[in-house]
Amino acid sequence: MSMKGRVIVVSGPSGVGKGTLLKKLFAESDLPLEMSVSATTRPPRAGELNGVHYWFLTRDDFLARRARGEFLESFEVYPGGALYGTLRETVLHAVDNGKWIVLEIDVKGAKSILEQIPNADTIFIAPPSVDALLVRLQKRGTETPEDLAKRLKQAEQEIAESGFYRYRVVNDDLDVAYSDLLKIFNSLRESSAI
Ligand code: 5GP
Repeated sequence: MSMKGRVIVVSGPSGVGKGTLLKKLFAESDLPLEMSVSATTRPPRAGELNGVHYWFLTRDDFLARRARGEFLESFEVYPGGALYGTLRETVLHAVDNGKWIVLEIDVKGAKSILEQIPNADTIFIAPPSVDALLVRLQKRGTETPEDLAKRLKQAEQEIAESGFYRYRVVNDDLDVAYSDLLKIFNSLRESSAI
């Protein structure tokens, strides 16, 4: 039996716990999951590795690659900020090999992927409230106050635009959210067997 490849888009505001949930899923699942490594022009945070968390590119390199059509989608996630993009080759190669490639990208990116790959699965991870998100971001402490304000504004917008996602997980209690996420992936498994 061979598995069909899948494209799974996971979005959610910064600080909602996407990373934690996906990390747990990747560690515990026996599904052929693969994380899509995006390219970005933002500088690496402490502990982030090139080719693992992102491909860290200069703006010139990013724009040259974009002009060559190397991205399936690319956006300034925060207005006036860094560019982020999904590499076409990464996704196509994974799908060809029967992988379930997971794209952790923003809402604009998700819309663009759906236009090109209508049968992509889309999951939105929402915070219980914007206030709860603020508390989490403050605890994480990786953003400057200006960045924090930008991310919160972005979060409100993303939540407002998230109606088109096929699945929704509210991350209030991590264990509950994880079990909801598992249910979604298990239901995908049932529909993918050939
Ligand atoms: P961060 O800078 O915290 O790593 O990511 C900021 C935002 O960029 C997150 O919402 C993340 O989902 C989004 N993002 C990361 N990679 C991509 C990408 O390739 N395309 C798009 N559209 N958004 C991305």
